[in-house]
Amino acid sequence: MNTLLTNAISAVRLGVEDYQSPDRARLTSAVRNITAGVLLLFKEKLRRLSPPSSDEVLLKERLRPTLSSTGQLTFIGAGRKTVDVQQIKDRFEALGVSVDWKRFDQLVRFRNDLEHYYTTAAPAAVQGALADTFAVLRSFVTVELEAEPLDLLGVATWHFLLEQSTVFEAQLAACRADLDKIDWPDAVYADIASELRCVHCHSELVKPVETDVEYLQSLEFLCTSCGEVSEFDDVVGEAISEAFAGEAYIAMTDGGDPPIVDCHDCGQHAFHVETGACLLCRGTLQHTECAFCGESLGPDDQDNGGLCGYHKWQVEKDA
Ligand SMILES: [Zn+2]
Ligand SMILES: [Zn+2]
Ligand SMILES: [Zn+2]
Repeated sequence: MNTLLTNAISAVRLGVEDYQSPDRARLTSAVRNITAGVLLLFKEKLRRLSPPSSDEVLLKERLRPTLSSTGQLTFIGAGRKTVDVQQIKDRFEALGVSVDWKRFDQLVRFRNDLEHYYTTAAPAAVQGALADTFAVLRSFVTVELEAEPLDLLGVATWHFLLEQSTVFEAQLAACRADLDKIDWPDAVYADIASELRCVHCHSELVKPVETDVEYLQSLEFLCTSCGEVSEFDDVVGEAISEAFAGEAYIAMTDGGDPPIVDCHDCGQHAFHVETGACLLCRGTLQHTECAFCGESLGPDDQDNGGLCGYHKWQVEKDA
């Protein structure tokens, strides 16, 4: 068997062993190993797609053009550095390789968050990561690596992943059913609702303590994994950042208006420009356009008494 494939399999197996260990300190290492294993399986696909004698071109970060003796242009791999996650995505997309990116991104984000914000991982949150791994591998190994996950990873590992995934998905479905009972004031909350996580342990297994509340902001969320209750602003605030991260990134790199700006009422980064309302406090704009030039006004201009920044300056200068 190829080294990449062997390493991929042992990383996933090691991750599962870490998870099964009674030593909770190994939970973080479980997530790290499993994510590494999945990435190695992706690289194995790129290796298989690289033409022979191309120096495993698709695996390398840098490509070098060369001319053959007949004048034909080809690319070969250059340097030692291999592709990063974004490059794997780009290459898979170009080559029509399909991956459940939503579940994979969730896995990578969990690993990154663990490394940055959490000292220990909660077992149920890691179980969620195993469920993501299961979902990604089930189709990728079968379709793209043309192997049976059971054969590739071994009965014990694969069955364990399946079992954990089943338990987790059932719990998640129960939580989601409760979340669905929330009477959200706008359709934009649908995306946010799917990003809700416990602020204490980062588990997806959160549900509203009570759905029949007078004000949206009095909603509280109970984590069925660690048992802690989180406040609306904390849980939904984080979910807003995640739900709009993609759009915010595009606005930042390609130009254009950011989807979310600071709210003039509550001061939180939660004002949704498109719907003209704060997603946390539901504050709206008092002044929507400048009385002089008609330019549309945002949360930043609300203190200008119905004028844009320029006309406010003009009025004050002339006063
Ligand atoms: Zn929790
Ligand atoms: Zn607000
Ligand atoms: Zn104006």
